[in-house]
Amino acid sequence: MTFSELNLLPPILKAVSACGYTEPTPVQAEAIPKALEGRDLMATAQTGTGKTAAFVLPALQRLALPAQKPGRGPRVLVLTPTRELAQQVTDAVRSYGKLLRIRSGSILGGMPYREQLRLLSAPVDLIVATPGRLVDLLDRGKLNLSRLEVLVLDEADRMLDMGFSDDVDKIAGAAPTDRQTLLFTATMDNTMARLASRLLRDPERIEI
Ligand code: AMP
Repeated sequence: MTFSELNLLPPILKAVSACGYTEPTPVQAEAIPKALEGRDLMATAQTGTGKTAAFVLPALQRLALPAQKPGRGPRVLVLTPTRELAQQVTDAVRSYGKLLRIRSGSILGGMPYREQLRLLSAPVDLIVATPGRLVDLLDRGKLNLSRLEVLVLDEADRMLDMGFSDDVDKIAGAAPTDRQTLLFTATMDNTMARLASRLLRDPERIEI
């Protein structure tokens, strides 16, 4: 299979081939078409399988379409357990989205509030965040998730291990129920199944 069979828009395809990728990895080949249909995903995939592009590419494609709701809050939110992972996702968004006109940024624990308030003071399309700091900004009324179209949980098992379960629930609760939710995890257990049943609607299951 080639990337051109995945129905991605030309500016996204061009950016992907500029990265030197010729074929989608298995998780990309399975996840991208389902995500482009608007389905929720429950994907079990390890780091190194290409899972980042599996959610970043369909999320970017969503941003290339007109917004579903008016306002200035983010349309896509990616939650990650750590700052390091958030940085990797942000870099991926920048390289795959370099031919699109989108504004993105990250909201991370331990970083100056001033910078994050500046990011949120203008319309922003996509945010990559760690849960703790995001909840902090939600509680202070600095962030509105009512316009969210896509919520991504990356390495959801690590977020649960790190005690972010309540924060994740709170964030999802602040987003519209008709959003699309893409959940990626390396492992699957009962706690993860319960999180999935709270957050996902009729998900497509992918196991790599
Ligand atoms: P990830 O699992 O998302 O951390 O990706 C692992 C590595 O695979 C990253 O360095 C990506 O740049 C690379 N990668 C992602 N998709 C592809 C692809 N389709 N072909 C070749 N390399 C890829």
